[in-house]
Amino acid sequence: MSALFHRTCNADLPWADTGDGCYIIDRNGKRYLDACGGAAVSCLGHSDEEIRDAIRAQLDKLPFAHTGFFTTEAAESLANLLAAHAPDGLDRVYPVSGGSEAVEAALKLARQYFLERGEPQRTRFIARRQSYHGNTLGALSTGGNAWRREPFAPLMIDTSHIAPCYEYRGREDGESQEAYGQRVADELEAEILRLGPETVIGFVAEPVVGATLGAVPAVPGYFRRIREICDRYGILLILDEVMCGMGRTGTLFACEQDGIVPDIATIAKGLGAGYQPVGAMLCSAAIYAAIEKGTGFFQHGHTYIGHPMAMAAAGAVLTRLTDGQTLPQVIATGERLKAGLQDRFGQHPHIGDIRGKGLFLGLELVRDRDGKTPFDPALKLHKKVKAAAMEAGLMCYPMGGTIDGRQGDHILLAPPFILTEDQIGELVDKLSDAIAAAL
Ligand code: PLP
Repeated sequence: MSALFHRTCNADLPWADTGDGCYIIDRNGKRYLDACGGAAVSCLGHSDEEIRDAIRAQLDKLPFAHTGFFTTEAAESLANLLAAHAPDGLDRVYPVSGGSEAVEAALKLARQYFLERGEPQRTRFIARRQSYHGNTLGALSTGGNAWRREPFAPLMIDTSHIAPCYEYRGREDGESQEAYGQRVADELEAEILRLGPETVIGFVAEPVVGATLGAVPAVPGYFRRIREICDRYGILLILDEVMCGMGRTGTLFACEQDGIVPDIATIAKGLGAGYQPVGAMLCSAAIYAAIEKGTGFFQHGHTYIGHPMAMAAAGAVLTRLTDGQTLPQVIATGERLKAGLQDRFGQHPHIGDIRGKGLFLGLELVRDRDGKTPFDPALKLHKKVKAAAMEAGLMCYPMGGTIDGRQGDHILLAPPFILTEDQIGELVDKLSDAIAAAL
């Protein structure tokens, strides 16, 4: 009997043993093509020598120095590189150990910003119904997934949820993309007015929704309208790029494609590419200045912020992502993968939608394409797809997000950026077999 507390109790999991490019190999020698990076983490595959070398070099020099006592070359250079490549206006970088921690830091920074400005009555956040921002209590409060929230509802911070921009289900017949985007963005304004603008701290959203819907980008214009509304009422725009950032959609930050800059952004997953647990929160110079000129101390921090080995890994990953070749490759490989999915599933009776950007793609499973009716949640179809895919030697990320209060079935694909042409074929074949086996 194992003493390890597995998240899914009694799960019979294969034992991952080694990594080889886009594959994880278990202790019996079975190879699994990684088509989801676990959860959009492993963007450079599982055996990148440069990243390993960077971590080894830092380990040999100095494994840890507490940020209350020292700064390090690894942390300073990562922050400078990130700020140099982030959209103009994201000037300061606060390193953390993962996605939830980045979101938690963002929520606290936003609150502290208004405290420093003498606006203590601002206590509320607005977020979106289909969203995931992490599992710590603050992050969980902003997330909209009912199943994840329910047990902890009495412990949540004050957050209201509006509709996401979910074109496949939300855009009405005859409505243009632009009109749809404005209509759902305007829900933010209505909610700000309902709450009282002077009570709202910020709006939190993923530029491309990941863990609840399987890669759903907003329609063009939606986020520009959101930015305008936030500015009109003086509330902060917090974009959570933990999953969709770090080149996953073809640009370093997904919001670059929406033509806006948030006041605060969170990143993680692809930043460490799975070689180290690491994330970061970025903020504007104005927000930083409010803290600097006020109390001069950000009242949030964990022991491992700025961990030198995590910083060294992230620095090496970011150097790769900004080499001028990797991101164009994400766009080209993403287009080929999407075309492969369209060819195979475009007319599939139970695939209602194929969507996403770059190498961040999603499929939505439906009982019938015309009515877009979801499958009965009791079937737990997404779980069956995952099991069948693992059996076939494919890691994909099926999930049961909610659709208008009902369970839906989505499959997220977020393979490493080094995916080859042959591996695209293998991915589509194995996914097709897994869906057929599950249905
Ligand atoms: N934010 C988003 C958008 C995510 O997708 C996730 C994780 O899936 C998180 C935050 C939480 O990140 P972590 O699991 O590293 O705490």
